[in-house]
Amino acid sequence: MPRIAVVRKERCNPIGCGNYLCIRLCPVNREGKDCITKDEMSGKVKVDPHLCIGCQICVVKCPFDVFFITNLPEDLCKTPIHQYGVNGFKLYSLPTPVFGKVVGILGQNGIGKSTAIKILGGMIKPNLGTDKEAAFEDVLKFFKGSEAQRFFESVRDNNIKISFKPQQVDLIAKSAKGTVKSLLQKVDEKKELDKIVDLLDLRNVLDNDASTLSGGELQRVAIAATVLKKANLYVFDEPTSYLDIKQRLNVVNVIRDLATPDTAVLVVEHDLIILDAMTDLIHIVFGKEGAYGIVSQPQATRNGINQYLAGMLKAENMRFREHQIKFFTRPPAKESKEPAVASWKGIRKQFSKFRLEAKEGFVRRNEVVGILGENGIGKTTFAKILAHVDKPDTGEIDEKVVVAYKPQYLDSESTELVMTLLQDARQYEAQLIKPLDLAPLLTKQLNQLSGGELQRVAIAATLAKDADIYLLDEPSAYLDVEQRMIVSKAIKELTELRGKPVLVIDHDLLFMDYLSDRIMVFTGTPALHGAAQGPFAMEDGMNEFLKGINLTFRRDDESNRPRLNKQDSRLDREQKGSGKRYYA
Ligand code: ADP
Ligand code: ADP
Ligand code: MG
Repeated sequence: MPRIAVVRKERCNPIGCGNYLCIRLCPVNREGKDCITKDEMSGKVKVDPHLCIGCQICVVKCPFDVFFITNLPEDLCKTPIHQYGVNGFKLYSLPTPVFGKVVGILGQNGIGKSTAIKILGGMIKPNLGTDKEAAFEDVLKFFKGSEAQRFFESVRDNNIKISFKPQQVDLIAKSAKGTVKSLLQKVDEKKELDKIVDLLDLRNVLDNDASTLSGGELQRVAIAATVLKKANLYVFDEPTSYLDIKQRLNVVNVIRDLATPDTAVLVVEHDLIILDAMTDLIHIVFGKEGAYGIVSQPQATRNGINQYLAGMLKAENMRFREHQIKFFTRPPAKESKEPAVASWKGIRKQFSKFRLEAKEGFVRRNEVVGILGENGIGKTTFAKILAHVDKPDTGEIDEKVVVAYKPQYLDSESTELVMTLLQDARQYEAQLIKPLDLAPLLTKQLNQLSGGELQRVAIAATLAKDADIYLLDEPSAYLDVEQRMIVSKAIKELTELRGKPVLVIDHDLLFMDYLSDRIMVFTGTPALHGAAQGPFAMEDGMNEFLKGINLTFRRDDESNRPRLNKQDSRLDREQKGSGKRYYA
C-alpha cells in the first residue's frame, strides 16, 4: 500500500511544542537517521517518506496536529495527479466535466477542490506526484480509458475554452477599475449583457465603481462576467457566498441554463439546498484536509448528498467519516416557559433612504433564534440596535442587556494575534477550541488567516465573551458543510450550558433549520424599508419566510434533510394549497 507522509507546515510551531518534540521522539531519528528534520529555510519540520516507518508517534505526540501519515487503499490512489511538494498536499483523481450537465463538487475546506478545478482549467499544470510538470502525453496515459481521458484530449486539441469564477470575489474589488457596466461590456462575448444583468438583478449597480461594491454585489458581478464569456466549460468556485436566498435561486437558474449539449458546468458549493437544486451529478472529495484528497466517482445528486451526510461511499465501499450528519423531523415545539432575556418595542430607525421597523418581540433564556430575510432589508441594522452599536430614532430596548456581536464582514487586515482575541475562549476548550480546531491558529495573526479560519476565530471569540445575548451575523460564510454543523453544535451546547440566547442571521436554510428553535423574519423591500416580525415558532416562522419567496420544502425520505420542491410540482402545489410550505 502506498504510504503518504504529509506535514501540514502552517501548523508547525517548534517553539510551542518545546523545541522540536517530534525530532526528539522519532524512533528512526533516535537510531541516528534523518527521518524528521528541520527545514533550514522555514525552521519547520519535514519528513523523509522513504525513511518513515509509519509508527505514528509524531502524529500522536505533536500538539498542533502537524503530521498525517497513513497507508492509502491501493485501488483508490496509486499516483497522485498533483502534489504540492514531497511533504505537501496530494490530490488523487479529478472530477469529470460532462457536456449538458451541471456537475457539483462537495467536500471539506482544504481537501483539494480548488486545486482540482484549476487543473481542469489549465491554471495548474499537474505533476503526477513528481517535482516537475508532467508531459501532456503522460497526463493522457494517466487517465487512459476514463471520461477524463476524453476531456484532456479535447484540451490537447484546443477544443476546450474555459470561463472561471474564482472563490475569493473580495479580491476583484482590489484589482478592478471602472464601472460595473464597463467591466461587463468588456467580457460580453455573447452579447447578452442586458439579459444577464436583469437575471442577476444588477441593474441598479451598473454605474457604480467596482471598487465600491458590497460582497454580494461583487459575487453577482463575477458570476455575470463568467457567464457572458463564450466558453464550453464553465466553472464556479463557491458562487453563493454573501447572497441571500432569492439571489441564490437566481444563480441556480442562470447556472442551470448554461448547461447545453455543447457546454459543461462545474460548481463547488457548500449550501446543500442550493447544491441539490443546481446540479445533476456530484463528486465527493474526501480524505484529510491539508493532507490528501480523493475524488469519488460521480453520482446522482440526491444520492451523493445523502452519502456525504452518511459519511459512507457505496460505490467505493469507503467510510470517510466516523459519524453521520443527522437531521430530525422535529416534533412541534412545545411552548417554552423560559423567561424573556431581552425585548424590544416600537423600534423605528430612518436612514436617508431606508426605514426599519420592529414592532414588538423578545428572546427567551436558552433558545437559538434564527433570523431570515433578504439582503438590504435591515437585519444588520436591527442587530446593531439590539447590540447598542446604533441608537433607534424611537422605541424601547432593554438597556441592561449586554450583547456580544459578530459582524458580517470581518477585519482581515488586523495584525493582532489570534491568541489575544481568544483569551476568553480558553475556558471553553471542549465547546470551542477543540471542535473548531483553533489550537493551530493561536500563534498566527488575524491577517494571516484564510476566510474560513477567520470566521471560526471570530465566532469563538464572540461566543466566549461574557454577555447576556449573543448575536452572530452570517457565521456560515466561508465554512464548509461540516464546519457549519460543528458551529451549530457549539452554539447549541453553549446555549444549553449557559442558558443565554443566541441570535443567528444566515442564508443557508439547511444550517438554519438545523440550528434554530424559533425564527424571526424580515419582510419589506430591500434598500427601502424592512419590518422585523417574530420570533415565531419554527414552523410558523419558516412558513412566513417561504411565503415571502414563494417556495416550499420537503424532507428527504432517507436523510431527513430539507429539500426545495420544484416550482409547480405536485408537492409544491399541494403544499401551497394547504399553507404548509415547511414540510407537508
Ligand atoms: P479546497 O478548495 O478544497 O478548500 P485547495 O485545493 O484550495 O482546497 O487546497 C488543498 C490543500 O492544498 C490545502 O491544504 C492547501 O494548503 C494546499 N495548497 C493549495 N495551494 C497550494 C500551493 N500553491 N502550494 C502549496 N500548498 C497548496
Ligand atoms: P441587511 O443586514 O438585511 O442586509 P442592512 O441592515 O445592512 O441590511 O441595511 C439595510 C439598508 O439600510 C440598506 O439599504 C443599507 O444601504 C441601508 N443602511 C445601512 N446602514 C446605513 C447608514 N448608516 N446610513 C444610510 N443607510 C444605511
Ligand atoms: Mg477552495
